[in-house]
Amino acid sequence: MKTSEFFKNSKTVFAIEVFPPKKSMSIERVYNTLEEIASLKPDYISVTCGAGGTSAVGESGGNPTLEVSSFIKNKCKVEAVAHLTCVASAEKDVLNTLNMLKQEGVENVLALRGDINPDLPRINDFIYAANLIEFIHKSGLNFGVSGACYPEGHVEAESMNDDLRSLKKKVDSGCETLISQVFFDNSLFYSFLEKVRLIGIEVPVSAGIMPVTSKSQIERMVSMCGASLPPKLTKMIARYDSKPDALRDAGIAYATEQIAELISNDVDGIHLYAMNNPYIARKIYENIGNLL
Ligand code: FAD
Repeated sequence: MKTSEFFKNSKTVFAIEVFPPKKSMSIERVYNTLEEIASLKPDYISVTCGAGGTSAVGESGGNPTLEVSSFIKNKCKVEAVAHLTCVASAEKDVLNTLNMLKQEGVENVLALRGDINPDLPRINDFIYAANLIEFIHKSGLNFGVSGACYPEGHVEAESMNDDLRSLKKKVDSGCETLISQVFFDNSLFYSFLEKVRLIGIEVPVSAGIMPVTSKSQIERMVSMCGASLPPKLTKMIARYDSKPDALRDAGIAYATEQIAELISNDVDGIHLYAMNNPYIARKIYENIGNLL
């Protein structure tokens, strides 16, 4: 089933993002984690493809995103969305991956350009995610296609307006739903959504929520994607920095409050960055399950 179908019901769509194991770890080790996360019965689970582009398609030695997506779809019986980056991929490799996903019954892709990585030479078959989206549709393989969006603007964009114009082109190239970068202040998301609708983008937009669990995690995230931290959150992190359990619980409470408010404001979907942590995913789900 294409994920765009989920948005046709009145319910808030609830999705969880997971990542495949690092190269040194066997894939079996994440299967228990995936089963636990899948038992929460999210509408779909999305699977990253090596943030930073280090396991872009076409590398030798298997495709962990494909394997994990297949496991979610075929063993856990939950709809899977495979992330697919294109910045360092040739058309033939992308087509190969799409065919393999299709063979595994995976019907949805999150089409991404990927971060520019100086250690990974660019292949200029695709310049922007929009080029990948067009390519996927032209392949005739009938995938559901989502794209990324940035409530605070993409880090490389000169202005929010430039980023919005590019986002409109991306949607016009055939992107059926959007998933947002993480944000910690709902008012940023509401104002982004207003601009998105004003520019004529009508597809559903899921809100990316990441529970804060450690100071280093949040510092890494902020340096990569530029999400801003409201004073309420920085105070919380400072207060519980040396108490991991307290920070985890405070992070879950903060994310719960964000999600509850977003649902009250009729957000299309929640995309939970649960960092392969079933405890966190379960706690959040227990808190907001009835609201969905
Ligand atoms: P694009 O949409 O191509 O945009 C990239 C930049 O180009 C933006 O600044 C945009 O404004 C500009 N632009 C786009 N089109 C045009 C145009 N026509 N003319 C001029 N400028 C243009 N990365 C990974 O490596 N693996 C993952 O699994 C992964 N998952 C993600 C999931 C989500 C929900 C999100 C939000 C991001 C994810 N990323 C992932 C990060 C993403 O790859 C980076 O943010 C990347 O730098 C941009 O990807 P994009 O698909 O948004 O690119």
